[in-house]
Amino acid sequence: MMSNTSLSGKVAIVTASTDGIGLAAAQALGKRGAHVVVSSRRQANVDKAVSLLRNENIEVIGTTCNVGNREDRERLVNMAVEQCGGIDILVSNAAVNPFFGNILESTDEVWSKILDVNVKAAFLLTKQVFPHMVKRGGGSVVFVSSVAGYQPMQGLGPYSVSKTALLGLTQALAPELAQSNIRVNCVAPGIIKTRFSAALWQSEEVANEFLKLLSIKRLGMPEDIGGVITFLDYYCHRWHELNGTPC
Ligand code: NAP
Repeated sequence: MMSNTSLSGKVAIVTASTDGIGLAAAQALGKRGAHVVVSSRRQANVDKAVSLLRNENIEVIGTTCNVGNREDRERLVNMAVEQCGGIDILVSNAAVNPFFGNILESTDEVWSKILDVNVKAAFLLTKQVFPHMVKRGGGSVVFVSSVAGYQPMQGLGPYSVSKTALLGLTQALAPELAQSNIRVNCVAPGIIKTRFSAALWQSEEVANEFLKLLSIKRLGMPEDIGGVITFLDYYCHRWHELNGTPC
């Protein structure tokens, strides 16, 4: 069982964590005792998230970080190390989707933006936190992919391909990082009720049509995924301790 102190002493960086799934992950990790570092592109959103989490007695600091920007990533990692003393957990959650339409109409710029933010930044951040996790004797990386990574969604071709790439990235990194006692996992949420997916649930008519496709007849909520991410960070850590094999 995970207690409120299961993750005490651990430092968790969660990207894109001022709203939706990232905020729910920060909340879930913080409630289990982790010292959380939240970030997103806008300072006002960071301030709001920090104050919301502090009101819940979560130990938290925050900074702006557009994950597609190298200096921003460096600042985020340095801040975690200098102010929290190290890094144990990275939840790479940020993604963009600047395009909806037939895949053949997507441009060079669309592909560059999607791959830079959704895939390359996830890898580069992992590379940046790696030496800090090694110093702690191990760690946990969780990428946020999507159900679209398994079955591309109509109109979301480039985005779906970027989410498939994260499944590959997980498998490419996991064996190599396991040698340093760092676990790499990936979560692939279905449709979760957030601003990102608003086009699918804001209109009752569209939402009802969409729900017909879902056996469970409800959308997922950000907390559902926050719980899964915390499970991967804590339970897999215990599994590894008890069985000596990565989870
Ligand atoms: P959301 O509720 O719209 O939240 C997006 C967050 O990302 C905000 O905090 C936003 O804050 C931040 N952000 C956006 N671009 C960023 C960037 N370049 N760098 C850093 N932060 C950035 O979105 P969400 O639904 O929680 O999505 C989170 C992740 O879940 C994404 O990877 C998405 O692909 C994945 N996902 C979502 C669903 C779904 O149905 N919602 C399903 C499967 C997978 P700022 O505006 O301040 O930057």
